[in-house]
Amino acid sequence: MQKKILLVEDEKNIARFIELELRHEQFEVIVSHDGREGLNLALEQPFDCLLLDVMLPGLNGIEICRRIRAQSNVPILLITARDAVMDRVAGLDAGADDYIVKPFAIEELLARIRSILRRVSTKVEAEANNLIKVRDIIINQQSYEVIFENKKLDLTKTEYDLLKLLCENKNRVCERDMILQSVWGYTTEVETNVVDVYIRHLRAKLKTELEPYIETVRGVGYVVRE
Ligand code: CA
Repeated sequence: MQKKILLVEDEKNIARFIELELRHEQFEVIVSHDGREGLNLALEQPFDCLLLDVMLPGLNGIEICRRIRAQSNVPILLITARDAVMDRVAGLDAGADDYIVKPFAIEELLARIRSILRRVSTKVEAEANNLIKVRDIIINQQSYEVIFENKKLDLTKTEYDLLKLLCENKNRVCERDMILQSVWGYTTEVETNVVDVYIRHLRAKLKTELEPYIETVRGVGYVVRE
């Protein structure tokens, strides 16, 4: 199905250029040159992705982003000026999914859009199939399978339970007592380093070039960050 994109950009030459490129890639494109009009369009019609320039007449892109986020999860890509670091931070704080800095190569813009759309579709798929997904980890709660970086990961039952617990609570710290109780069924405080041992096993299996999956919160427990 054709994806529909809203482009809000006041520089007409740039807007026209992006519009043509997007159409060429088979996207349906609606263009607005004004912030307020863009916001109204975004709230009136369903879009698959919004491309918002930050510096706009009427209402700036960050403000548009903030107002849209109050009522919608539509993917938002901000277009910021070079050197405007504050804009990028403010934009992400306002709920933008990503940003691209002017001047950019059109291929990069297209890649960002595809990546955002892909993320949304895997998320929808995950919700539909009762999957838990954290970055490159996908846990299938029906088949007890774990896919890591597109490959099946061999885990013992206990490792699976521990990883599932951490991923279900992603971005929240799981306290050691809570882990012991949920995974091992200990109801009283016991002196054991079994949690740390199993965390070590999981870390060895979840090797990544990027940020490690499991973070230690000293004296408290562990957290998996998205
Ligand atoms: Ca502008």
